[in-house]
Amino acid sequence: MIVETEAVVLHAINYRDTSKIVTLYSRKFGKIKVVAKGAKNQKTNKFGSSLEPMTLSSIVIYKKDQHDLHLLSKSEIVTPLNRLQTDSEKMFTGLALIELMNMVMHDEEENEKIFSMLAGSLTAIDAAEKNSLNVLLAFMVKMFDQFGFGLTLESCVNCRRKTSENDFQSVLLRLSDGKFICPHCSPDLTSTGTKISGGLLKSLHYFQVNTIEKSTLLSFNDTLRDDLISIVQSFLRYHIDGVRTLKSLSLLHSI
Ligand SMILES: [Zn+2]
Repeated sequence: MIVETEAVVLHAINYRDTSKIVTLYSRKFGKIKVVAKGAKNQKTNKFGSSLEPMTLSSIVIYKKDQHDLHLLSKSEIVTPLNRLQTDSEKMFTGLALIELMNMVMHDEEENEKIFSMLAGSLTAIDAAEKNSLNVLLAFMVKMFDQFGFGLTLESCVNCRRKTSENDFQSVLLRLSDGKFICPHCSPDLTSTGTKISGGLLKSLHYFQVNTIEKSTLLSFNDTLRDDLISIVQSFLRYHIDGVRTLKSLSLLHSI
C-alpha cells in the first residue's frame, strides 16, 4: 500500500552499506520505522536533508502489512526549521522533544493530536525569540492531558482554593493523581506529595491552559527552570515505566 503523510524525523541509523533506517512520528500512523535506500551515500541520496532529526517532512511510503519496517520512497521538507540547527538552546530543546517522543510513543499507534502538538512545538521552538525551553515544558504538561493522567492545577484538591486567586508559598503535588494540596489544608506540609513552590504551580498551570506558542512569554530564573524540568520528568517517570532522564536536557544544562 502506497501512502502519503507528514512526519517528524525522530532518529536515524545507518543500515547496510548505503541505507538508513529512520524512525518517524507521522500524522497518519504514529511512530513508524522506514528504510531509506541510498540515504547514507551522498551520491545516491535522493532525500536531501529531509531525514535529519527534528525535520518536518512530507513522505511517501510503501507500507507493508504485518511488517514493522516500511520502505520510504519519497521525503521532502515541509517547513525548514533552520534555527534548530544553529542555536544551541533551541537544538537541545528540540532534541529533547524528539527523544521524549521516541521513548514514550508506541509503534504504529495513530495520535493526530500529539502529531500536531509535536509539529507545532518544533515550529514554536524555531520561532521563539527567547525561552524556547518552555515549549518542551508546555508540550509535556499537555501531553500528560492527552495520555489521561493530566495535572489538576486550578484549585486545591481539598478546599478548592484557586491557584489564580492565591499566592501559595508552596504546595504539595501528588504525583499519583496530579492534584495538589494547599498550605491551608496541610500547614506543616506533612500530607503526601512533592513540595513545589507557588511559582512553579502557577507556571505549570499557565502551560496547561495557554497555547504552546504563548509558553515562551514566561521567563524563569535558573532555580525555577531546573525545578520545572525536574518535576515534569518526575511526573512522567511516575506514570510511564522505563522512562529515562532526557539526555538532551542534561546537555542543555551545560551550556
Ligand atoms: Zn486547600
